[in-house]
Amino acid sequence: MKLTFIGAAHEVTGSCHLLEANGKKILIDCGMEQGPDLYENQKLPVAEGDVDFILLTHAHIDHSGLIPLMCKHGFKGEIVTTFATADLCNIMLRDSAHIQEFEAEWRNRKARRSGKELYEPLYTTQDAIDAIAKISPCDYGQKVELSSGIQVRFTDIGHLLGSASIEIWITEDDVEKKIVFSGDVGNVEQPILKNPTITKEADYVVIESTYGDRLHGEERPDYLGEFTRILRETFSRGGNVVIPSFAVGRTQEILYFIREIKEKNLLPDFAGFEVYVDSPLAIEATNVFTKNGRSCFDEDAMKIVASGVNPLVFPGLKLSVTSEDSKLINFDTQPKVIVSASGMCEAGRIRHHLKHNLWRPESTILFVGYQSVGTLGRKLIDGATEVKLFGETIEVAAQIETLKGISGHADKAGLLDWLKGFESKIQHVFVVHGEDRVTDMFAQAIEEELGWNAFAPYSGGCVDLRTNTILSKGIPVAKKKEQKPVKVRSENAFNRLVLACKRLMTVVMKCEGMANKDLAKFEGQIQNLVDKWDVKD
Ligand SMILES: [Zn+2]
Repeated sequence: MKLTFIGAAHEVTGSCHLLEANGKKILIDCGMEQGPDLYENQKLPVAEGDVDFILLTHAHIDHSGLIPLMCKHGFKGEIVTTFATADLCNIMLRDSAHIQEFEAEWRNRKARRSGKELYEPLYTTQDAIDAIAKISPCDYGQKVELSSGIQVRFTDIGHLLGSASIEIWITEDDVEKKIVFSGDVGNVEQPILKNPTITKEADYVVIESTYGDRLHGEERPDYLGEFTRILRETFSRGGNVVIPSFAVGRTQEILYFIREIKEKNLLPDFAGFEVYVDSPLAIEATNVFTKNGRSCFDEDAMKIVASGVNPLVFPGLKLSVTSEDSKLINFDTQPKVIVSASGMCEAGRIRHHLKHNLWRPESTILFVGYQSVGTLGRKLIDGATEVKLFGETIEVAAQIETLKGISGHADKAGLLDWLKGFESKIQHVFVVHGEDRVTDMFAQAIEEELGWNAFAPYSGGCVDLRTNTILSKGIPVAKKKEQKPVKVRSENAFNRLVLACKRLMTVVMKCEGMANKDLAKFEGQIQNLVDKWDVKD
């Protein structure tokens, strides 16, 4: 009965834990690392082909993104998750494979030209299809027997459609233990989704700590009011509202609020305004939301469903799918809303819409999600006056607004509240899925406020659950810093230029005594060259 921490240990992405019990090997999540990470993840200590089950808390790629790679490397077992997560994985894992293939193809075009070795995609669409075929979905609250002595149950944790915490009961040689994995714990009072469900009993808890050091604040932002104001002001100027949005989750929230704005007639002067969702993934995700409403929507959203209305659909909603449809949007001069991906403007169709709207002072670019440092989205929020898109310099004249969204993650108080729901004394809490310092701080907060043992393992850390013994705290192996070859190359180039000039001077000195005609020709050539490169102020 052993638990090993592989990913999202002192980090926020790449969630992956290995549970070994009763001769079975079970992974809880198998996520991709995204963005800059501090530490190397330890290799899985078992062969992929020997893993029996993957239990998936939710569909976000930092929890699910390496499942196709597991299949590529020989995983033959079963993936157990909720119905909604299975449906979201069906579109998100294919999309992730498509990104991998696209990136490999892009690199290979370069590699072929320079005769370098070809690059293999991390995994292919076929690997994603193989993974999807291995999913056995179950209902929230349903106890599933994985094998003799191992039972699991998925409970709604209110972070994303289908998201769950996972309870696992293990009986091994007459010793019984229960371990609960929180998954990503949702925030309270989000639109569409339910609040996180409390679990009452466990011996061990593995909990995320994304906001383990922060409070979201008492006052909830007036999302609807702010959104309405931005739409009214932009439409009055005759401009478009362009919203870069994550396809799954945030886009559906936006549709939910726009439906409400329309239903309450909050914009009577622009009642018929049109809303284009220009992202195939967002459209598919919206269909998955609609399909799984009954098991996942909160009371308010269900009331709307019960009245015969789809809470994500309204008059004026236009779904564009082909890239031709996408281009046509910009020929329509009526003020409108355009929702498109990617959320941080780094790729996708949103870049076309930015090209057509950033230079227009009457338009608004409305950010609804977190923008990482270095992304185009972040540059716009930080006040860039011009940006480059498709090789063209575009002036930023549009209004740049940020709608302070409702975070999908519980804050420190929310996480502690969820833990306080346990009625049994917890033998050990393991803190994962947080930034380096935050995991330790949150572990300390648990010890101080709840009096339970808590610690944040590094990758490779492992625990004997039968005896509650920490076998290893894991090893913080720092990621190697990437070299910056560009700068080195440019320095070399300058040095080569200086050397070339020295050679030129040597050659010039050797020319003494040559015919005047030849000397004049040589001098003319040098003057032409220097005129070409002598930049005048
Ligand atoms: Zn998540």
